[in-house]
Amino acid sequence: MVIGAAARVAIGGCRKLVSSSHTSLLLVSSQCRRQMSTDAQSVSEKLRSSGLLRTQGLIGGRWIDSYDKKTIKVNNPATGGIVADVACMGTKETNDAIASSYEAFTSWSRLTAGERSKVLRRWYDLLIAHKEELGQLITLEQGKPLKEAVGEVAYGASFIEYYAEEAKRVYGDIIPPNLSDRRLLVLKQPIGVVGAITPWNFPLAMITRKVGPALASGCTVVVKPSELTPLTALAAAELALQAGVPPGALNVVMGNAPEIGDALLTSPQVRKITFTGSTAVGKKLMAAAAPTVKKVSLELGGNAPSIVFDDADLDVAVKGTLAAKFRNSGQTCVCANRVLVQDGIYDKFAEAFSEAVQKLEVGDGFKEGTTQGPLINDAAVQKVESFVQDAVSKGAKILLGGKRHSLGMTFYEPTVIRDVSSDMIMSKEEIFGPVAPLIRFKTEEDAIRLANDTIAGLAAYIFTNSVQRSWRVFEALEYGLVGVNEGLISTEVAPFGGVKQSGLGREGSKYGMDEYLEIKYVCLGDMNRH
Ligand code: ADP
Repeated sequence: MVIGAAARVAIGGCRKLVSSSHTSLLLVSSQCRRQMSTDAQSVSEKLRSSGLLRTQGLIGGRWIDSYDKKTIKVNNPATGGIVADVACMGTKETNDAIASSYEAFTSWSRLTAGERSKVLRRWYDLLIAHKEELGQLITLEQGKPLKEAVGEVAYGASFIEYYAEEAKRVYGDIIPPNLSDRRLLVLKQPIGVVGAITPWNFPLAMITRKVGPALASGCTVVVKPSELTPLTALAAAELALQAGVPPGALNVVMGNAPEIGDALLTSPQVRKITFTGSTAVGKKLMAAAAPTVKKVSLELGGNAPSIVFDDADLDVAVKGTLAAKFRNSGQTCVCANRVLVQDGIYDKFAEAFSEAVQKLEVGDGFKEGTTQGPLINDAAVQKVESFVQDAVSKGAKILLGGKRHSLGMTFYEPTVIRDVSSDMIMSKEEIFGPVAPLIRFKTEEDAIRLANDTIAGLAAYIFTNSVQRSWRVFEALEYGLVGVNEGLISTEVAPFGGVKQSGLGREGSKYGMDEYLEIKYVCLGDMNRH
């Protein structure tokens, strides 16, 4: 995922955002000119009194300010209001978090799987018990509609439940020996300290997908959430403490991303980096992990095709593509980025799809009935605008939307554009916004060629009523995930991850556990002696 240069400058370090509250207030008020809505305000007051609105980092089991007392402001993207000031941490705090994680590893990894499982299960129960509050926090700092946010909590928590169960199934092997006086074993052991760097689009689920299997396997973790959405991460960490996750096993630091990243990457004590975010940052992290030869998992950007064949069920294709495209206002790496539609169904699909998109409700995520929240920040909207402008200048036609929403802020109208072609930027790069480009194709071979003509390889969707065609096409697609007649395919029980430049490794399912385990081969010799 990419949100553009302006935002990156803003989250690059504390200096730009530091609490010179005067400057930040000016910044917010000049950009937004809106007060926090009453809803948002009363929600944040309630969260504050419940103890779930945490603003300090978590190091070694203690909540602490940044050492130089700098803070960053967390904004509500729907209103521009300031939700909280959180600690803006850097190298020193991260080094201390790593040290505490390293120390905690010895005892946490030696617990039995059953003991770790019980702690994770308690954490899951607490996440579910606080589903509403956590959902409210997500809506406050990220903007997605409350219903979707509460759905994210259930989804995010499911990884903790799943890995609480999976902890007890980390089996090794006994291999038939190559010599009669030997016995050969394989053990799976936790890697050690894990650095987990996560984005803003799923403030909870991107963390639990990593922390669940890491803690279950016996690893300890230093999490760095996005500076745009740290509050959900901090609340989840508070619940982890309440569940009995011991001091140091889970740390949270946020603030100066490059400094925190460097500290995690250069430390020989950190044995694994797991990252979800932009392809550009992922490549940097991968290179920086080389000197200490860390294991790396990357979940990077996508360019998902949603392929609608002539023989598709129109309703299923519309519903599936709508879900795949407009979930989280188009801000997920598995969002349909290109809608490839076959000649024979193109006009019918364009009409039915536009009708469905027109029914989407744009608004504040706390407002009943809202299905589309704001984009994360203005840089994200500017990027979408420039992509739309590029497409229109090259001959594409806007069927619906195509501009900022009258609500102002970072709201953008759900948009459908037809006659999009491969030379337009939106066909090549991740839009990360509520814009659906319709691209026409003639044959199945064309569809496969167009779909694979990208450096990305995360999710793809196909809509067809032919079983034979679906097999031919999903086998030919160079993607890590394929939905057939289905637009929402993520679940904790299935492996999520990309091929090509969309990443390395898998999250969720039994495969997700392997990312946090090392294999140790043991050869027992001289076994014939009595
Ligand atoms: P997005 O476009 O979603 O913001 P990014 O890749 O910029 O994607 O951000 C994803 C995560 O990576 C965030 O937590 C962000 O703070 C972090 N990040 C960005 N730059 C760096 C860096 N140089 N080192 C470590 N983490 C970084």
